[in-house]
Amino acid sequence: MQTSVIGYPRIGENRELKFASEKYFKGEISEAELFETAKSLRLAHAKSQKDAGIDFIPSNDFSFYDGLLDAAFLLGIVPERYKKLDLSGLDTYFAMARGYQGEKGDVKALAMKKWFNTNYHYIVPELDDETVIKLTGTKIFDEYAELKAEGIDTKPVITGAYTLLSLCRYLGKKSREDRVAEIIEAYKEIISRLETLGAKWVQIDEPALVKDLNEEDKYFLTRLYRGILAGKGNVKILLQTYFGDVRDVYEILAALPFDGIGLDFLEGKQTVSLIEKNGFPADKILFAGLVNGKNIWKNNYAKTLAMLDELKNKGINTVLSTSCSLLHVPYTLEAEKNLADDVKLHFAFAKEKLAELTEIASLAEDSARTEAESYIKNAAVFASKRDCTDEAVQIRLAEIKKEDYTRLPARSERQKLQKAALALPAFPTTTIGSFPQTADVKKNRSLFKKGEISEEQYKDFNRKKIERCIKWQESIGLDVLVHGEYERNDMVEYFGEALSGYIFTEKAWVQSYGTRCLKPPIIWGDISRKKPITVEWSVYAQSLTKRPVKGMLTGPVTIFNWSFPREDISIKESMTQIALAIRDEVLDLEKNGIRIIQIDEAALREKLPLRRSDRYSEYLDFAIPSFRLVHSGVKADTQIHTHMCYSEFTDIIPAIDNMDADVITFEASRSDLLILDALKKHNFETEVGPGVYDIHSPRIPSVEEIVSALQKMREKLQDEKLWVNPDCGLKTRGEEETKQSLINLVNAAKEIRKIG
Ligand code: GLN
Ligand code: ZN
Repeated sequence: MQTSVIGYPRIGENRELKFASEKYFKGEISEAELFETAKSLRLAHAKSQKDAGIDFIPSNDFSFYDGLLDAAFLLGIVPERYKKLDLSGLDTYFAMARGYQGEKGDVKALAMKKWFNTNYHYIVPELDDETVIKLTGTKIFDEYAELKAEGIDTKPVITGAYTLLSLCRYLGKKSREDRVAEIIEAYKEIISRLETLGAKWVQIDEPALVKDLNEEDKYFLTRLYRGILAGKGNVKILLQTYFGDVRDVYEILAALPFDGIGLDFLEGKQTVSLIEKNGFPADKILFAGLVNGKNIWKNNYAKTLAMLDELKNKGINTVLSTSCSLLHVPYTLEAEKNLADDVKLHFAFAKEKLAELTEIASLAEDSARTEAESYIKNAAVFASKRDCTDEAVQIRLAEIKKEDYTRLPARSERQKLQKAALALPAFPTTTIGSFPQTADVKKNRSLFKKGEISEEQYKDFNRKKIERCIKWQESIGLDVLVHGEYERNDMVEYFGEALSGYIFTEKAWVQSYGTRCLKPPIIWGDISRKKPITVEWSVYAQSLTKRPVKGMLTGPVTIFNWSFPREDISIKESMTQIALAIRDEVLDLEKNGIRIIQIDEAALREKLPLRRSDRYSEYLDFAIPSFRLVHSGVKADTQIHTHMCYSEFTDIIPAIDNMDADVITFEASRSDLLILDALKKHNFETEVGPGVYDIHSPRIPSVEEIVSALQKMREKLQDEKLWVNPDCGLKTRGEEETKQSLINLVNAAKEIRKIG
């Protein structure tokens, strides 16, 4: 049996690409040097797959920022304002991803959104009527040829026309339907050029097919692929899907002349029944996604082999594949020196998954497999008992009452009490929590972690930072202050470290967007709070000022969503355990005089099921109550804020309102405030702070720009409910740009108060 990998991590085992790109942005290395780093990474990645014995190795899965942006760029989907900057190809690409502010102009970045149900983000390509879709780039060809020259024949990967056109934003009159002819030509040309270069297979990624598709979508899909595949030569086409099942289009895909179809057997709940019901076409190869590309637990060989046996019995020609790109898991367990062997035993990161693929593939054809060493070793892991249950947590879970999910009195009542108690001006200004994590802040933390400075020295440094931060916020006139989050490496890892049941890695980085990587902790067992987590810092910050300082916590849904989850208990149970732990922290903050507490749910939207019919029953019905459980115990005049990254919640507004927070802040600046109409339509009750500028980009917004954003917001929202804030935390930004931006923000709020 052959094996296939959908995509491999790209940032580098030691985040080489991140560091090289950041140096390039600062002008410290040349374009040629950045290209050199990229090339050596691509080669290393392909080599490790080749050495592991993988048959279908991807190429063009590498990206300097994001694969969807690469596809758009390849096809000339570059808005005029970026072309006008007249930069090099690479810099034009980076301008689209990060914005540009310099000698040649001042242009914002394109919008950024979460990639399906992951914490990876894609750049949203923009199509206006003038843009012509046509093959203009060469990346996919270059990267294929480069590896071929090294003796590694790969399957080039590209995002498919359906997914690309479905995720674009349309600015003019033309819709995706008007783009069919052009895009068909472009993909045909890509395929034929790859064939000329010698490619035997091309992988076309169409994750958008796992969403709900209506008749129009189906017709659109059919038109696209009838066109793209018409007159195709000898190169074989793999239509690759992931993150769910293709229940709406299974029959269409089966009837189209693809040579292979990649299906997700892990997140695709109906994949097996679709095959059962419709059969699988005899003229195609099934790429069966059975090795988890998203989670880090070992594959259960016996289970996977049973599935492969079933497919074989049905006479289906099968290649064993990952369930999605390995982009979503870290590189290798080999880098983890601090994890005990009996813990590591349970995990497989990207490199270890390569071994799983080839081991399982060979066991699949082995009639005496149960005697094979690889099989016996794997079975032993699943037979052993993991130490993961905490009696006290189990008792507490059992004691939760229905009332614990409801905060009293009702929000409208609370909002009045809070206005009186906090006495804030109209259009109160605030920030989302973190201030720039400058080199000295990171150094202080790392010295402490390495034991090179004492706890007192470490804390002393942070206290000085907090003091400076508070004084500065006061001096420019912000209304609700924050302590700056200098003590946090990351909004989830920091909390995880204070919770029992979590384990941590050293190098298990996963790309989130561009050069931003996260190190998700692993939920190993039952969760509880070991001791107060943030109270000391918040209380210290509050002692320095009369203005309210927001307590700052990460909520249970986000902590869960940004961790590698357990596979042995339900999401609901894990989330509820975390909610109880964070509830303890909320009550401690309140007891210690903190009057405003922000519970971040940056990632609430992330694991929302991609299909509408599953949204409540499989997620919101317990995610929203978990959040409510965290804050239901506070007094009426304690103000609860929450923050969500990205405004992509237009379709679940009632659920967001139902979190029953008093105030919510969220990203809006990159999406042209489309969310506001929806809030108005639903009579959104929660007070709102739609971000007035984009913190994912280094450019400084002007006062006029912020005033005009606020005026637009006022058309849709009641003045009494409007807050003024950036769209996310400032930790990734530089100090100078942050200061200027916030000064402009405060001045814009003052201007609005004057205008009245
Ligand atoms: N409070 C966090 C911060 O400001 C929120 C970060 C986020 O939403 N990703 O950093
Ligand atoms: Zn955010």
